[in-house]
Formats: sequence, structure tokens, C-alpha cells
Amino acid sequence: MVKVPVKLVTWDEIVEWTRQLAKIIKESGYKPDVVIAIARGGYVPARLICDFLGIENLLSIQSQHWTEAAKKAEKAIIKFQYKVNLEGMKALIVDDIVDTGESVILAKKYIEENWKPKELRIAAMQWISSVAKIKPDYYAIEVKEWVWFQYPWTRLEDITQFIKRIINEELREKTTKTTKEQLKQKFREWYGIDPPQDYYEDALKLLEEQGVIELQGDQILLK
Ligand code: ADP
Repeated sequence: MVKVPVKLVTWDEIVEWTRQLAKIIKESGYKPDVVIAIARGGYVPARLICDFLGIENLLSIQSQHWTEAAKKAEKAIIKFQYKVNLEGMKALIVDDIVDTGESVILAKKYIEENWKPKELRIAAMQWISSVAKIKPDYYAIEVKEWVWFQYPWTRLEDITQFIKRIINEELREKTTKTTKEQLKQKFREWYGIDPPQDYYEDALKLLEEQGVIELQGDQILLK
């Protein structure tokens, strides 16, 4: 049994899902004048939605909650608050996934109160229906069992944190060293996937820079 179920998402899947999402939006008859990407996860999907729907106006707001891959901080906040005038415009919030939905709920409230669009709807590639406090107006995939979508734009960040967690929560209690192969085996046990080789190597180097480990060839010393 894996500890954290992870789905490794490819770039091709991102294109496929956002194309599907754009089709659903188009078929609904909603014609947004402006797209609002929720930073940072909504950036790539929002840009693709603009392409598929032929929308020129794209802006962004940073609503943050999850500070570490598959672990969450206390509450969502709007970083870098600013005002734009969207009066008379139909707007579409785009995010990668609605998990608890708190960040998107907060962004929606902030935009409605401060940017005042004529209409505001929400689109996300994934909607985790079993935990979300809000249902997006548009979604490509309903997810019933919680899983961490390892999107291509957080690959290095996620893999680094995933390894760090294995070290801090399991290995350090038992040993002072391991090998790249053994650690990879643990990665499979914890997350149910193989870390992509180039990212695995980069993540180990990052952890060495952070002083978490020391690399000696294939040996990994835990510090
Ligand atoms: P909250 O963080 O308040 O629960 P969301 O559910 O909207 O709000 O999640 C915020 C962001 O965190 C998402 O846009 C996404 O980038 C990241 N995230 C949250 N849950 C997942 C998940 N299961 N898989 C991948 N990324 C996630």
C-alpha cells in the first residue's frame, strides 16, 4: 500500500485535458472576455484555455494554500493584492485542480469584491468531488478518490519534497546512509511511481545543496 497515491501527469495529458475543458466551456455557451489564472497551478492550463477559446485577455492572481507537495499549510491567502476594473466583463477563473477548493473560493470572493466582473465562473482540469467545498462550473475530470496529481510544472519541487519526506519520516530514524537504488525503491513504496531519472538526480543534488544529504557516488549519507 502506497502512503501517498501519486499520478504522474504528462504534458500531453495537460493538452488533452485543457482541450476537453475548453470544449465543455464552449458548448455551454459561456464566452469569457477575460481569463484569470490562479497562480501558480493555473498558469499553464489558463494559457492553453486562452488558445483553445481564442481569448486575448489573461491575468492572474496568487491564491495560495498548499506550500508543500501533498501537504497543506493552515489557510489560503491572496498574495500581492491589487485592483483592476473588470466591470462589464465576463470572467473565467482557471486553475489546475480543485482539491479542498479553499484557494479558489477565496480568489472568487476577492475578484468579485474588488474587480467586479459582470459574471465570474470557475474552470479546472480536475475536481476532487469527495473533498471539495465547491464544484467548479467547468471541469474535465471528476476525481472520486484523492490522489496527488504530479503536474509537469512542479516536477522538481514535488520530487525533491517527496524524497525529503521519506528521509525525514522514515530513513533517518533507522539509518545514517542509503543508496540511490534503495531510495528509489522506497520512493516506489511510498508513492507508487518511479521518479523520472533526470528529475531524481536533480532533486538529490538540490537536497545536497540544502544540506539534507551528502552524495558519494551511488551512496547517500543522511545528514
Ligand atoms: P486549497 O489549497 O485551499 O485546498 P485547492 O484545492 O484549490 O485549494 O488547491 C490549491 C492548489 O494546490 C491547486 O491549484 C494545486 O496547484 C495544488 N493542489 C492541491 N491539491 C492537489 C492535488 N491533489 N494534486 C496536485 N496539486 C494539488
